[in-house]
Amino acid sequence: MNPFAGYALTSPFGYRIHPVDQVKKFHRGVDLVTSAPDRMIYAFVAGEVVHAKESIRGSGLGGYGIVVAIKDDRGYLHCYAHLSAVLVKVGEKLKRGQKLGLQGSSGLSTAEHLHYEIRKWYTPSFGYTESENGVVEPTKYLQDYYAKEELSLMEKADANTIIELYLKPAWGAAKTAIEKKEIGRLADVLRVASGQSKQNV
Ligand SMILES: [Zn+2]
Repeated sequence: MNPFAGYALTSPFGYRIHPVDQVKKFHRGVDLVTSAPDRMIYAFVAGEVVHAKESIRGSGLGGYGIVVAIKDDRGYLHCYAHLSAVLVKVGEKLKRGQKLGLQGSSGLSTAEHLHYEIRKWYTPSFGYTESENGVVEPTKYLQDYYAKEELSLMEKADANTIIELYLKPAWGAAKTAIEKKEIGRLADVLRVASGQSKQNV
């Protein structure tokens, strides 16, 4: 599954010959060009906006132009760089697929594109590291992230509410061991569907 459907991948993650300097350099993210005529950029994963403006030199995002940076629920930072406009505010909680800005060519960029980078940390300096240690390969990260999301068919809180409100009283009122065992099994079905571990083996 390609997490970047709707985009052309113009420069992959990893070591490459830099288009300007003609020397081998590490590319910390992927370069994408959207096929959408409105050039709208959407969040690849949900999270909290921690940066949404022109980046400052020395901040850890210098040269990235106008950047939206979003911290996901694992603490990883998703940087959307070289934007032409920002549509979100710091502190805002975004859902996956929500609009965040417009593709552009701000900062150190030769042509309009989205530089998308995933950092392992969001602080200090927005998780910037000189070496490749601080970033992950975005395609693999997103594929793994989506796979785990799809495994959870329901919210953990919803599953636990059903267990507490209905299954536990039913278990207490059950007259036979077979009934109790069946109720325990159903509770585990709910736990697994919401990404939790079984409690009755
Ligand atoms: Zn790039």
